Amino acid sequence: MDQSTTVTCSLLAIDHTNFCYKVCSGCERTLPETDDQFSSICKFCNFNFSHSPPYKRLFRLLVSIATDKQVKTVVCFDRAARVLFGCSADEFFRFANRNPLAAVTAGQILEGEMIRITLTKPRNGNAQHLRVSSIVPLRSGFQPAIVTLREYYGQRAP
Ligand SMILES: [Zn+2]
Repeated sequence: MDQSTTVTCSLLAIDHTNFCYKVCSGCERTLPETDDQFSSICKFCNFNFSHSPPYKRLFRLLVSIATDKQVKTVVCFDRAARVLFGCSADEFFRFANRNPLAAVTAGQILEGEMIRITLTKPRNGNAQHLRVSSIVPLRSGFQPAIVTLREYYGQRAP
């Protein structure tokens, strides 16, 4: 395949057990998930932690898709995942903390959606999965998962 390819596919499943990761608020380098707020001082940048939370979360989703030819698992980072979720990973993480089944339910909501995605080869040659660089939902009535979840749980924005 070329550097990138665009396919129309159906979304089969999202791995809801591990949908985001922590990065430094200053330089967006990955931080260990186990660190708490006070030990996760970034070693790479001089970000001033006194005014902002030291870290934020970004989406990283493993998504199973089915094209007319094959089923495969691809990895979907923050910008593309926001199209499906309709919010930031931090917002979704807070929502999921208050509603423990939210991540599972989000997967069920999105399951079966027809999407057009652009796949690119990972920059890291060892990476296991193709990366999704953009997602366009094709169904006319599509709404992001967080919209449906808020209706479902009867809550306003986090
Ligand atoms: Zn940093």
